[in-house]
Amino acid sequence: MSSVSQTESLPRRATPRLQVVARDGQPPADGVDAKSAHVAAVGLHKSYYKGSIQIPVLRGVDLAVREGEFLAIIGSSGSGKSTLLHLLGTLDQPDQGEVLMAGKRIDNLPARRRDTLRNTQIGLIFQFYHLLPEMTALENVLSPRMIADGVFKYWARRREHEAEAKRLLDMVGLGHRLKHKPRELSGGEMQRAAIARALVSGPRILLADEPTGNLDQATGQEILNILRDLNVREKLTVVMVTHDLAIAEQADRIVRLVQGRVEQ
Ligand code: ADP
Ligand code: MG
Repeated sequence: MSSVSQTESLPRRATPRLQVVARDGQPPADGVDAKSAHVAAVGLHKSYYKGSIQIPVLRGVDLAVREGEFLAIIGSSGSGKSTLLHLLGTLDQPDQGEVLMAGKRIDNLPARRRDTLRNTQIGLIFQFYHLLPEMTALENVLSPRMIADGVFKYWARRREHEAEAKRLLDMVGLGHRLKHKPRELSGGEMQRAAIARALVSGPRILLADEPTGNLDQATGQEILNILRDLNVREKLTVVMVTHDLAIAEQADRIVRLVQGRVEQ
């Protein structure tokens, strides 16, 4: 991977168009259908239950994300953005509908295969970073490797893994904070560490849930620049949930969740 500069301005893309995915499963206007998409949702339904009361959140979401696309998902608070992202990332399962990755259904895989898929293909980034508080930045970045490999295999290749983790931390501009614990890092630095952690297993897709939501505008923009750089230089597909229009407008395309569906 090339180095990501924090300050370098990224090429502006054309103003993103709102919404191109058809509601009834028809191929969308830009020709991406679920089968040829990098990741896609087809007719996704998801409800939560509070006692016996059903809270429908997603009511038939169709969405196809092209390989190499930078997509922003917007919608008001409670509209189901996180729910959708969790389903795309196999962190949760839909009640109805399918999630496809590279044309293959992934939502119904056995739990272990979903874990493996998530560990190898999908990088996840969250608003509140979800770093482990007792671990240093470097250890946090290494943690997915430790979990994926198990103690012995990890130990045998620890130098290689450490070199890769340092390279990634360097790339996101955190090479000088390897031994800092999360409480010794700023919000922007924690998010940089979380991005490096999301990249350590070499995923081809990044799912980011309000990655700038807890940051001031300038720091949020720096994080966005890193995500855009990864998208442009490393050809990573990025799906980013945000409620910040100024952030969303920098994506290739914006879709809006309204009443449990992708708005037409
Ligand atoms: P967003 O990310 O767009 O703010 P979410 O996907 O987090 O929205 O939540 C959508 C709706 O589902 C909200 O009304 C929320 O309260 C509800 N919800 C989310 N997670 C759960 C859960 N685990 N149990 C019950 N209700 C939930
Ligand atoms: Mg949310």
